[in-house]
Amino acid sequence: MAPRRLTGATDTYAGYRARLVETLRARGIRDLAVLKAFAETPRHLFVPPAVRHRAYEDTALPIGNGQTISQPFTQARYLEALRLKGRERVLEIGTGSGYQTALLGALASTVFSVERVEALAIAAQRALREAGIANVSVLLGDGTLGWSAYAPYDAILVAAGGPEVPPPLVEQLAPDGRLLIPLGEHGAQTLTLVERVGQGPSHAVRRTPLGAARFVPLLGEHGFDA
Ligand code: SAH
Repeated sequence: MAPRRLTGATDTYAGYRARLVETLRARGIRDLAVLKAFAETPRHLFVPPAVRHRAYEDTALPIGNGQTISQPFTQARYLEALRLKGRERVLEIGTGSGYQTALLGALASTVFSVERVEALAIAAQRALREAGIANVSVLLGDGTLGWSAYAPYDAILVAAGGPEVPPPLVEQLAPDGRLLIPLGEHGAQTLTLVERVGQGPSHAVRRTPLGAARFVPLLGEHGFDA
């Protein structure tokens, strides 16, 4: 786990952060590693100054460019479903603010994250640096194509809702890897777990619906038209 620069008098948000963790626990989040990641990750560094006073509310917030930082409870459930143990190489599609990227950095060994909006990718990179998180890399590009240079990935998390599972992501998933993606129409999706079962080109893919979700659209070659 990457060292965090969070200790001491500079961390004026520690109390709010502890309360957010209690809210997540009360709402049913049980995975201790996930709760610890929320306890360690400074969400206030990932939201615009105008909404910083609300950074530790369990709610989605605007981050500019028409995008939102997701609700912490939704992210916590999502992260629980990935069942990370700490040694994984993870691919994230849709860096957004970089907050979820930071949480993944606390839960896995290495994180590669792809964002298509340049302003968001730059702001996320800056916030990740400010938070002292060193095991994550951000790429500007179309995430529906994955990031083949570092494949295969033990887990892939898509933070935007698409019409189908982008084939490159399945190809870049390790045997027995887990891929989470919201699938469906604009604004109303089903969070879907896609597992690659077994080795080789004849591998099977198993899909399990995990419940209703509402994410911003996944745009790109294997997503909706930009
Ligand atoms: N989890 C993020 C929020 C993600 S919002 C957070 O914690 O802040 C979804 C993001 O997906 C947006 O930033 C959007 O620009 C991005 N996105 C949509 N389609 C994409 C694509 N094809 N490749 C990369 N990023 C994409």
